[in-house]
Amino acid sequence: MRNGLDVTGEDLLLLYASQNGNAKVIAEDLYEVCVSNGLKCELKCCSQVDELDGKTCIVLIASTTGDGEPPDTARKFWRRLNKRDTTSTTTPLASLYYTVLGLGDTNYTNFCNFGKSVDQKLCSLGAKRFYECGWADDGTGLEVVVEPWIENLPSALRTHLSTIQHQPHLTNTTQSTRNTREVIFEGSCACGELMEIESDKEGKVNDGNMNENTEVKESKDIPDVMKSGPDVGDLKIEQSNSSNSMSDSGLVSEVERTIKHNHNNQKQTIVVENGRMREETKDKLLTIAAKYKIDLLSQEEVENLPLTSCAFPLETKLTLPILPPSYLSISYQESAEELLTNLDTSPYPSAASEPIDTIVESVKRLTRYDAIKTTLEVKLRLPNNTLDKFEYEPGDSYGVLVRNPKCDVEILLYLLGLTGQADNIFELSVMLDTKKKCATVPSFIPARGFLRNILESCVDIRAIPKKPLVRSLVEHTADPKERRRLQELVSREGAGEYSQHIRGANLSLLDLLIIFRSCQPPITTLLEHLPRLLPRAYSVISSPLIDQSCVTFACNIIEIPRMNSVTYSRRGISTGWFSSLCKDLCDAEDIAQPMGNLTLNAHRDIHAEIYKRSNQNFHLPKQAATPIIMVGPGTGVAPFVGFLRHREKIMAINQEQKFGESWLFFGCRHRERDFLFKEELQRFEQKQILNHFIVSFSREEEINIGSKYVQHNIVKHGNVLANLLFNLQAIIYICGDAQNMAKDVFEAFVNVLDVHVDIPDFKPREYLAEMQLQRRYLQDIWA
Ligand code: NAP
Repeated sequence: MRNGLDVTGEDLLLLYASQNGNAKVIAEDLYEVCVSNGLKCELKCCSQVDELDGKTCIVLIASTTGDGEPPDTARKFWRRLNKRDTTSTTTPLASLYYTVLGLGDTNYTNFCNFGKSVDQKLCSLGAKRFYECGWADDGTGLEVVVEPWIENLPSALRTHLSTIQHQPHLTNTTQSTRNTREVIFEGSCACGELMEIESDKEGKVNDGNMNENTEVKESKDIPDVMKSGPDVGDLKIEQSNSSNSMSDSGLVSEVERTIKHNHNNQKQTIVVENGRMREETKDKLLTIAAKYKIDLLSQEEVENLPLTSCAFPLETKLTLPILPPSYLSISYQESAEELLTNLDTSPYPSAASEPIDTIVESVKRLTRYDAIKTTLEVKLRLPNNTLDKFEYEPGDSYGVLVRNPKCDVEILLYLLGLTGQADNIFELSVMLDTKKKCATVPSFIPARGFLRNILESCVDIRAIPKKPLVRSLVEHTADPKERRRLQELVSREGAGEYSQHIRGANLSLLDLLIIFRSCQPPITTLLEHLPRLLPRAYSVISSPLIDQSCVTFACNIIEIPRMNSVTYSRRGISTGWFSSLCKDLCDAEDIAQPMGNLTLNAHRDIHAEIYKRSNQNFHLPKQAATPIIMVGPGTGVAPFVGFLRHREKIMAINQEQKFGESWLFFGCRHRERDFLFKEELQRFEQKQILNHFIVSFSREEEINIGSKYVQHNIVKHGNVLANLLFNLQAIIYICGDAQNMAKDVFEAFVNVLDVHVDIPDFKPREYLAEMQLQRRYLQDIWA
């Protein structure tokens, strides 16, 4: 083994517990870092590991899901570990060294709870933490904690693995002298190391021989980008610099390939100048923008964006992260034969059922034309033969499978020069000579299919580009200024620039490619890095007792305005699609009809695939006599409408049934504009299905002074609520925004208990924490 520790694969185990794929990707990156540092290791999912006994050293990358629970793939692992006896004096894992990198979100309670629980449990079983655990917050950017944690891990591992090698059962050999942090570029640099790069006087950037797959060695070379330029119509190539090697290297034939597969007839001349491609005619992007009526930023606006301005002088050395090794290769078939494969068959996160094809029965606008947000109610009909497999109860939520908008996909295909290939069959495989260890085609991308379908259904092209992707994009950017700026954004020195201009601006890959036009990566680079396109979750507002074959949910149309680096205005992927089904209803500003009358009865041929999400807790109490306190501003009221519809039906069936007291705290902005389900909720109150219905109107403060938000009304009714909570074991349900509302509501309940429970040394926070453990403080909240 080269220069490395002679530790066997079993000695260092990298484990991941992933829900949406983040922890897995980080663990794979870490694996590359370890291997390139001469550390032998194994990489496994928690689901593949039975016991930790006999292991010497583990590094766990652990996501947390739901209300602090382990990811689905780690539940069994956790059950087994958690039930191990820690009360005895023995320490069964005393010979284990470990560390944990937890991924979580501080917008939710129980931040990184799974990682922290494993840490505590391992500690109590005698295992020794050899390196401080990291707790990364997705609310502020995982990379803030993940990057330095990973950078410093190899040296900690070296120290500790060398320590344990001195134990009798292991062999000891030379220790690696390599360091991932401090390698300075000196003309060549092995993959797996951080590099410093330097610009020359003309602003050309030389970042060394970074990867054997990289064909661009210096700015005069013809860059990769030429191999997959934008679709060029009837293309004529002129060469303005004879020193460039257009005539050799197979480049011309690559461009010819592009021409051959291009179906648009736009006349265009591409001038190759010092390895850069310059388009002489009207940009086809504008044609696509016109076709889809999108308000694309002009070239002038793009040039003035802070995102495109370099932040550091050219002399500044930049330290780049390792270049992720490329590992996918793609080939195309000319004929577009019939291809009968399911696009994405790997299970979705939190799936409690198979995806089911439903029919969109209706889409209804619930808000008035002048409401600040537009809310839709969507009704889906389940096929009869699925009803037995699809039982649900109020409080459940559904994942709706989504597709990227056609416009986004068309732009991306154009920018990648792949419009002509989009409907030919491709085959994807792992490169034989890849440097990436354990490389596989991502499980959510079929190895054979149509590119257009993959871009529409499998990968999230609107995701904020993560640093490894941006780092790879650098290699495919021809323009030196753009290239330098991308290097800044991904460099250690430019961490703040990345946070501000990419993460903070909610930039998508598409925006980045529109702004950095000379960046033209091969499709394989994107498929290696783009995350899975995840379903969108909604809480059901229907009751199976009323109509078992229907599920209904509500959502606000997400509007993403064109501003800063968002290159055109757009709607959320899922809610944009629903709104497109009832375009006239959503866009009409002059409709003065009352809310609720605006319904589109959809055509029979509109389908939506959905699956049931696992939800063990957010249900009505098993004992009907238990009082319930529901808090749901905005569309957070959705599951409670389901609760009340369900109760109404139960009451009709069994008039003897007695229920505990029920309270609903609802909040909206204006009573006439966005009071969702107003008549229905008022009817529930009149019929005493709902005993107390308290509403706050946040933008009508002059009417309800001091009751702007739900939490203000909770405090107002504190006396009664404290009694329900403390003496009658009421359950609190909270649904809605996690970022602010849920935290403020928690504080309101702390206040209520503090003021109204008159017991010496009573600790309201501890009481609420105990309620959470007893599943009496339940939240269905989303950031
Ligand atoms: P929203 O934007 O949260 O607004 C609803 C009301 O809450 C407004 O009157 C708003 O007032 C007020 N509000 C703002 N800040 C608040 C705070 N700190 N505390 C209490 N109230 C506050 O409503 P929404 O857009 O419908 O959002 C609901 C949230 O629920 C979303 O995050 C959604 O993802 C989530 N959710 C939805 C479902 C579903 O099935 N659709 C299910 C579960 C959760 P001002 O604007 O005047 O400040």
